[in-house]
Amino acid sequence: MVHELKVPDRILMGPGPSDVSSMVLRAMSTPLLGHLDPEFLEIMNRTMELLRYVFETENALTVPMSGTGSAGMETAFVNFLEPGDRVLIGVKGLFGQRMADVAGRLGADVHTVEEEWGRPIDPARFEEAIRRVKPKVVAVVHAETSTGVRQPLEDIAALAHDHGALFLVDCVTSLGGISVGVDRVDIDIAYSGSQKCLSCPPGLAPVTVSERAREVLRGRGRKVQSWYLDLTMIQEYWGAERFYHHTAPINMIYALHEALRIIREEGLVERFSRHLRLGRALQAGLEAMGLELLVEEPYRLPMLTAVKVPEGTADAEVRGTLLARYGIEIGGGLGALKGRIWRVGLMGQSCSPKNVVLFLTALEDVLRERGMDLPPGAGVARAVEVMEEGAH
Ligand SMILES: *Cc1c(COP(=O)(O)O)cnc(C)c1O
Repeated sequence: MVHELKVPDRILMGPGPSDVSSMVLRAMSTPLLGHLDPEFLEIMNRTMELLRYVFETENALTVPMSGTGSAGMETAFVNFLEPGDRVLIGVKGLFGQRMADVAGRLGADVHTVEEEWGRPIDPARFEEAIRRVKPKVVAVVHAETSTGVRQPLEDIAALAHDHGALFLVDCVTSLGGISVGVDRVDIDIAYSGSQKCLSCPPGLAPVTVSERAREVLRGRGRKVQSWYLDLTMIQEYWGAERFYHHTAPINMIYALHEALRIIREEGLVERFSRHLRLGRALQAGLEAMGLELLVEEPYRLPMLTAVKVPEGTADAEVRGTLLARYGIEIGGGLGALKGRIWRVGLMGQSCSPKNVVLFLTALEDVLRERGMDLPPGAGVARAVEVMEEGAH
């Protein structure tokens, strides 16, 4: 006999997935509709409308792709690059590296602007590279989840457009947590994932495409290399034609619809300020405990904090105890930062005062137990102070 599925209680404070509201889980268990049922088509329309709201755009082509954030990444590159096309990618962490890998596999001519992990890329470095490479597409990661760095976008967007390039942005971790502002920043292609600050299970990758980029799509010399991710066909299922392409993951779309509805109800401004206030509180709390943060203050993401593992502390054991004793999941470092940082997420539903206080308390307990001399309660006291300042 095989027993019913049972999972332990967890608090998801890693780099994603984040906690999901019970309302979203309930929406997922709504009975199926056919993927061409007129009622489902209405749900699709509303989902696109809600996605435009969170992306802050009027782009007609704004759809959730079937697949996780990486499917969004593939969609963004495969539709706008043909073999031999030049692309310039900012690399300052794992996800920038992944972009370069994806673009290289498509046969694009890949050029990169690199920066040390933990720092943003200076736009002046893009200027020099854009002049030299003359790329068709300039791409960056807005919120680099592997390091906790926020990359400012405005200057790079302007440089790309001054030189006739499309501007492509990964906003997997930023969307729904800080403003992406697709129309304001003038981003041509942006993609995200459902399981970070949107607080929906993993499985959908929202994508939005500007008119300028659609023009490039229409002018392609050959078919998009990926059949599954071909936006020229996907747009005819999500658009007025309603042509069958592949069966939409119905219940995932219910979930996204509900997650987006919750965001609409909270309001973007409120949501951004909640992330900012609690992110600052967590970061101030960690510093008050005597811990060091990886990223300089102006470039810290509120929804993903990279904190340095104190000298002589066993990274994996601390994370293991947090999980076993308190049910709290946080992330470790990746690549060059493996064993050197912890990544603490405050994304969407997981971003609450309760989680900030609980995490700081639990971390203090685990570190003291391991012999670290910490001022008792200092982290929580400071975090609460910052939360209250932020509330006024
Ligand atoms: C999580 C993440 C991805 C990849 O998303 P998956 O859902 O894991 O495929 C891409 N870019 C960034 C910045 C991310 O944080």
